[in-house]
Amino acid sequence: MFSHKLFQFLTVGTITLVATGGGLSLTGLLHQNYLNNSSLFTQSLGNKLPDNLNGSALANAQDVAFNQNKEAIPKELQGQTIYQAKLPITDKVIALTFDDGPGPKNTTEILDILKKNHIKATFFVVGQMVSFHPQITKQIADDGHVLGNHTWHHWYRRMNVATAASEINRTADIIYKTTGVKTTLFRPPGGFLHNGLVDYAKSQKYAIMMWSDESGDSQRHGQAARLIKNVEKSAKPGGIILMHDGGGNRSQTVKALPQIIAYLKNKGYKFATIPELLTMQTQAKDVLTAESSIVTKDEHPNQKLHHQ
Ligand SMILES: [Zn+2]
Repeated sequence: MFSHKLFQFLTVGTITLVATGGGLSLTGLLHQNYLNNSSLFTQSLGNKLPDNLNGSALANAQDVAFNQNKEAIPKELQGQTIYQAKLPITDKVIALTFDDGPGPKNTTEILDILKKNHIKATFFVVGQMVSFHPQITKQIADDGHVLGNHTWHHWYRRMNVATAASEINRTADIIYKTTGVKTTLFRPPGGFLHNGLVDYAKSQKYAIMMWSDESGDSQRHGQAARLIKNVEKSAKPGGIILMHDGGGNRSQTVKALPQIIAYLKNKGYKFATIPELLTMQTQAKDVLTAESSIVTKDEHPNQKLHHQ
């Protein structure tokens, strides 16, 4: 069922690309969301692609674009606050996110676990921590994970525009200088939406990335067994799981992570980065729209969710 749906997505995405992309240069295509959209399936599902798409010249061109542009998100979601991707219930895809790093021990351990499991995740890094640990930050990007902006100081307090701008821009700058990545994602420290940071981030077209599934690993006495239970209870298609690789000793997160991954895999979940997940949402909507004229293009559905 899952593969069948994806095949539909791929077919629609590829036809669009062929039909409209013929006269454009590769550079021009980099800015077309659907190019990135199509290639995410190459990345996420690897050899599960239908044979006729696997290894084609088109797929190769998409891979190049994807590697250079894996941070891109659908235009319609820029400046939006998002708690999870709206996906059909049968599309079991979920995103792991890690906040407050990078740190010297836990981040490296988490990267090792993700690598062993062939999973790409999203790391919301604190600018100050990037300045302390540039090599680890680079490792995150080199391993194929996505980086998001989590401010310079991780302050919760109310900020004027100049301070909010400095918190976000300094972090964006150091992420770029360290890794070459221009991130499109912002997560407000503590999930605070009204202290000035989110207003500024929206003005800069960041997607404000909240979460739908809490591991609870930043709570005191958040033992591994509890974290695993929390994820088991809340995991859902399109879900965004909140975990931490920094901001304290995250040995319980490291301990729980292999079991969390095993549980989700056992339940049939695939893992996606945040841009991949958001792109799937857009494509799911496009497929529905193409298949049925009854379905209308609603406003972003996550605006109705309030998990905070
Ligand atoms: Zn945080």
